[in-house]
Amino acid sequence: MILQQTRVDQGLPYYYRFLDKFPQITDLARAHEDDILAVWQGLGYYARARNMHRTAKFLVNECGGEFPKNFEKLKKLKGIGPYTAAAIASFAFQIPVPAVDGNVKRVVARYYGIDTNIESPAFFKLAFALLLDVIPPSSADTFNQAMMELGALICKPQSPLCIECPLLDNCSAFALKRTAELPVRIKKIKITQRFIQFVAFQCGDEFLLRQRPSEGIWGGLFEYPHFDISGEAGHEFPYAECPWDMPIKPPVLRTQMLHKLSHQHLNARLWICEVEAKTEALNTLGKWVHFDELKSFPLHKLMRNFVSL
Ligand code: SF4
Repeated sequence: MILQQTRVDQGLPYYYRFLDKFPQITDLARAHEDDILAVWQGLGYYARARNMHRTAKFLVNECGGEFPKNFEKLKKLKGIGPYTAAAIASFAFQIPVPAVDGNVKRVVARYYGIDTNIESPAFFKLAFALLLDVIPPSSADTFNQAMMELGALICKPQSPLCIECPLLDNCSAFALKRTAELPVRIKKIKITQRFIQFVAFQCGDEFLLRQRPSEGIWGGLFEYPHFDISGEAGHEFPYAECPWDMPIKPPVLRTQMLHKLSHQHLNARLWICEVEAKTEALNTLGKWVHFDELKSFPLHKLMRNFVSL
């Protein structure tokens, strides 16, 4: 699950940290979500960590702590799609189902000369069916790993090393000199611009920290309260939204940052807002934490940048 959105070299230290902290599935199931997010901190796509937690709980509570040895049942687990289910089924249980990741899709598109968009469900279905026909029943794990390695090391996105490829003799893209035009990839990503004002309410040495809802972007992580404001007003301090009922010093703009996510660009500003008292209105926004302790909470990347300033 770590490798769903992450390269091996990036994910490996997290994998070891996870095994160290949660050596058995029961340890993961019983852990507090905040502790899991703290280990995951910095890896991004935090829904994966929450899904692992839910799946661990489900397996411990409903399945005697065992993964189902069945591809269809694996796919039903939270956070486990066809690729991860196939990887678990073939690596752990020798079930002959193809694991179709990005590297494998590229090999299939070139080898069979397929023009369908490799980001589409139709391509995934086709690639899965083609590989299902050729995957050897007795060595599904070796086959899947070999396909992934072939895509990563030989059939690379740019300048594939066809001369070294064991599939050379029957490869459509090589025969027709189409390696540069395959695979076809059409990504439809609409980037949204958001203007966000983070406000670090400070009372003495303490700052107000709030936890995000468990669903959605950065779910369950901690941050300073923030206010979304559209358009030009996004460059001003969000007086109208802030819960004032106390005299304050004028807020100070500490920094501004552009943080790029896959589907949105966050134009973030950080304001330091010193307050004289921890009023009820403020207390409803989060909890007060000493500055030295901020980093011990699971924070999202933007928030960690703020705290490191
Ligand atoms: S021959 Fe070239 S294009 Fe075809 S699968 Fe091998 S590396 Fe990829």
